[in-house]
Amino acid sequence: MSLSVELKDLEVLTTNAKQIQDDVLKEILTLNANTEYVQRFLHGSSDKELFKKNIPVVSYGDVKPYIERVANGEPSDVISGEPITRFVQSSGTSGGIHKIFPVNDKYIEKLGYLVDVSSFITSKHFNDNVAEKGKKMAFLYNRLESKTPSGLPVSSSFTSYFMSDYFKNRPSKCNSEYTSPDQVIFCPDNNQSMYCHLLCGLSQREKVVGVSATFAHALVKALNALQIYWKELSSNIRSGHVSEWITDTNCRNSVSATLGGPDLELADMIERECSNNSWEGIITRLWPKAKFIECIVTGQMAQYIPTLEFYSNKLPIVSMIYGSSESIFGVNVDPLSKPQDVSYTFLPNISYFEFLPVDHEEDMNNIVDLVNVKLGCYYETVVTSYFGLHRYLVGDILQVTGFYNKTPQFRFVRRKNTVLSVNSEATTEEDILRGLARATLVLESSNSMLMGFTCYAYISTFPGHYVFYWELKAKDVNDVVELDEKVLAECCNALEESFGSLYKRLRSKDGSVGALEIRVVQQGTFDSLMEYFISKGCSSAQYKTPMCINSSEALAVLEDKVLARFYSEKSPPLDL
Ligand code: AMP
Repeated sequence: MSLSVELKDLEVLTTNAKQIQDDVLKEILTLNANTEYVQRFLHGSSDKELFKKNIPVVSYGDVKPYIERVANGEPSDVISGEPITRFVQSSGTSGGIHKIFPVNDKYIEKLGYLVDVSSFITSKHFNDNVAEKGKKMAFLYNRLESKTPSGLPVSSSFTSYFMSDYFKNRPSKCNSEYTSPDQVIFCPDNNQSMYCHLLCGLSQREKVVGVSATFAHALVKALNALQIYWKELSSNIRSGHVSEWITDTNCRNSVSATLGGPDLELADMIERECSNNSWEGIITRLWPKAKFIECIVTGQMAQYIPTLEFYSNKLPIVSMIYGSSESIFGVNVDPLSKPQDVSYTFLPNISYFEFLPVDHEEDMNNIVDLVNVKLGCYYETVVTSYFGLHRYLVGDILQVTGFYNKTPQFRFVRRKNTVLSVNSEATTEEDILRGLARATLVLESSNSMLMGFTCYAYISTFPGHYVFYWELKAKDVNDVVELDEKVLAECCNALEESFGSLYKRLRSKDGSVGALEIRVVQQGTFDSLMEYFISKGCSSAQYKTPMCINSSEALAVLEDKVLARFYSEKSPPLDL
């Protein structure tokens, strides 16, 4: 199937999802029939019924030995009928371990296809072809690849995409769709690239129609950097000279060429806007033609929505893509939907998708095909990819929200295994996110906003309780955060009120769950946490602050920076 993007392709794909899914499975099974893994279960057959009957549904631990054998130099056909040429590494911060997945150029092509479909849809909805009429200031990053023992490259999915010929030779490059030259994206030092992305974006402020990053976290980080560096950035624009600490030669030269020369007027404007005490709407003030913010704000990234709305004067936030190291999944065909209503339409030509109904996990006979999911129901995705994953449980819980043509659309609900529990209650990511949305509303009555959070179950004393680490920042630049005891205790209450009925009962009646605690940490703490995870091998482009933390080393990074503690002062009302 051709991977070039046109609207009719999307229509054809989503109208013929059933046939395309059957063809994809046939192709995968034919390709992989003689691999050691598939041979064990299907004995050379590529029959769909036999696949459903014989191939077990597995998790990472089950396939890890096979993946590691290929990573250690055994032939690809241990798991894949096509050559494995590289590995993508998952951020793994939720489960605490880094997983690697075998892929080849086809994966990159599919990722490129997803990016192309998404750009195509965004351009169409904003009635503006970014490539022709404007540019995106995109905070895209790269990271040095590592190697497996057999010498195959290992990198994040986006690093493998940016380093590929698919990206380097993309047609939209001729139209300079980004304000930054590619050399800024290729620079392996992410601080240098972030600074240069800002510099290039500022120097072409009149052309910027969209501000983008893969995950919301990266945008908030870039805005934070803008607050730190704006004087230096405007001085670079004033002199036409890039700061000396930008030492990556290719990046430096390309940014110097982009600057062109001194621009006094622009430098004055940046200083005027940035020295304003209020940074509310700073994005629209610095980039007046910006029409949208583009980044993933579903799942745990939802915590950054209020911050992005504050900085952008509520520009539409478009959350376009849903994918993982295991497979790409889908795209949002309705970019203007509100962040909380975003659904992703699965792309049936990417992998073979099945769905395990939540709460019926014990009976694999309940697994259904993509086109047979039921509206409103919750499922965990099971993926069979071209590269050696067969009936692999992804660990994301999704809810069916509708259909685009014949293809289901899903809301991302939560990661499966991330729960907080200090007793017999199970608090899910969804509960936490709901609580956080309520607590941030309470916080709005103060002068501060939430810049980062994570939590853990404190069980060293009885009763155990939930601890939330919060990094706060004053809304106005020159203000300091005021820690208002009443507001923060109210935030604790708001969190608890959003949890499940068992939590509330254990907390209220039995006293076997203690009062929820918010520990406010110093500014920059969540950057330190990110650096900690990066030092453990996670890539910064892919990094997502873990919603819950179990590792004592990571907790120590946070504990070192605690400024103040607040507790919920009353038990949450019981559910009726
Ligand atoms: P990784 O393999 O490290 O790239 O992480 C993939 C995981 O990130 C997915 O399984 C999801 O849990 C999460 N993720 C990716 N895209 C989205 C999205 N659009 N919305 C919510 N979560 C996402």
